Amino acid sequence: MTDPFIPNSPAGRSPGGGHTSLFATALAQLERGADLIDLPNDLRSILSQPKNEIIVNFPVKMNDGSYRVFRGYRIQHSNLLGPYKGGVRFHPMVDLDEVKALASWMTWKSALCEIPFGGAKGGISFDPSGLEADELERVVRRFTHALGSNIGPDHDIPAPDLGSNAQSMVWMMDTYANSTGAAERQNVKRVVTGKTLETGGSPGRDKATGQGVVFCLQHWADEVGFDLSGASASIQGFGNVGGATGRILQVHGTKVVAVADHGGAITDEDGIDAFDLTDWVHQNGTVAGFPDAMWIDPDDFWSIQSDILVPAALENQITVDNVAQIQARVVVEAANGPTTLEAETALTQRGIDVLPDILVNAGGVVVSYFEWLQNRSAEQWDLDDVDHRLRETLWRACDAVVNLREELEVESRRDAAYALALRRLQVVYEQRGIFP
Ligand code: NAD
Repeated sequence: MTDPFIPNSPAGRSPGGGHTSLFATALAQLERGADLIDLPNDLRSILSQPKNEIIVNFPVKMNDGSYRVFRGYRIQHSNLLGPYKGGVRFHPMVDLDEVKALASWMTWKSALCEIPFGGAKGGISFDPSGLEADELERVVRRFTHALGSNIGPDHDIPAPDLGSNAQSMVWMMDTYANSTGAAERQNVKRVVTGKTLETGGSPGRDKATGQGVVFCLQHWADEVGFDLSGASASIQGFGNVGGATGRILQVHGTKVVAVADHGGAITDEDGIDAFDLTDWVHQNGTVAGFPDAMWIDPDDFWSIQSDILVPAALENQITVDNVAQIQARVVVEAANGPTTLEAETALTQRGIDVLPDILVNAGGVVVSYFEWLQNRSAEQWDLDDVDHRLRETLWRACDAVVNLREELEVESRRDAAYALALRRLQVVYEQRGIFP
């Protein structure tokens, strides 16, 4: 399957630019899952393109008095199962190709977890760390305003992703509410999820993706007879997802022996304290310079011996260039799209399990759904309740993937997860029909 729209990607991101196109990867994954269940061609075609691709260019006044034009995206992949749902990413590399892939993955995550949402993703191509706080606020508010009625509490519901956070969501919610009629204003909080607790967020949403990563890892450990306590883990990315994963793993007795981020990499075979490292990153913005570990060359991060490797940063990180260095028992895809197709094949051939992103990092969207439900009924659940429901939801999805993998006699857990998500979407398409 080819994507006629890839030329929109800037040079360097498209296949011709020498880098792996994320959307091409997403399409290849879709094709493999579709083959497994003989998905009809019409449905393959429909699901291989997003329904809507929204690009907005908007000006923002900078503190030096100049105006800078930003480019933002909102890609709505599918709303078959419910409102479009997915994060917004703030990063200089955000482009159409990337956001299309990320949007499609949201559709599969919701289908896998049986939550009534579709798939979407958005983003702005810029480096948020390069702006003053008030400039950043104006960018987020102006982006929200530019999106206008393309988002909405029952239509398309953004959330945080790489580079954005709870504060960004509060600005989005407030901007949207203030652009809404006075009588509706109280009903629109759920236009975004991942808000702060005080403004309508859910307990447990901040750690939900990392918590979900660990629940899925526990499920795998139980399945294959692996003991997490006493095991070692390496984590790439120590932001929202990587940080929470590291802290929760540590509580379960797993030693974090190496961490890498955009600023550098560190290691300690006796274990890095994930809570101390979190404090350090909050103060310094990076793991680099953390005094209680040894600094290493970031290229050497991949060859550190550990049982569990958690990529929790960017896509296309595990590639043919570094896959041979990896010595883990399992790769847990906390990030979206961290493993290229070729690298995944190499890992599988070496008996290294790959737990796929569309299952492993779905905890974020599941708790986003819980937040949306709480906003809708003006309730706040307690943390134990949220964690319990998250575990039940993810373990049910993990069980279903394990069962389908056996039924289809397929090696790849990703292929089985795709087959399951696609089968669920197929049933709905068959019952609803395709309008008109
Ligand atoms: P974040 O912005 O909180 O943290 C990103 C981390 O990646 C930081 O530690 C940063 O230093 C590191 N990083 C950035 N560039 C890097 C590079 N070149 N090399 C090494 N490390 C680098 O982002 P996040 O929310 O934790 O998201 C991380 C991944 O998880 C993304 O792929 C995102 O799509 C995915 N994800 C996030 C959520 C969520 O709820 N936030 C949900 C599902 C999936």
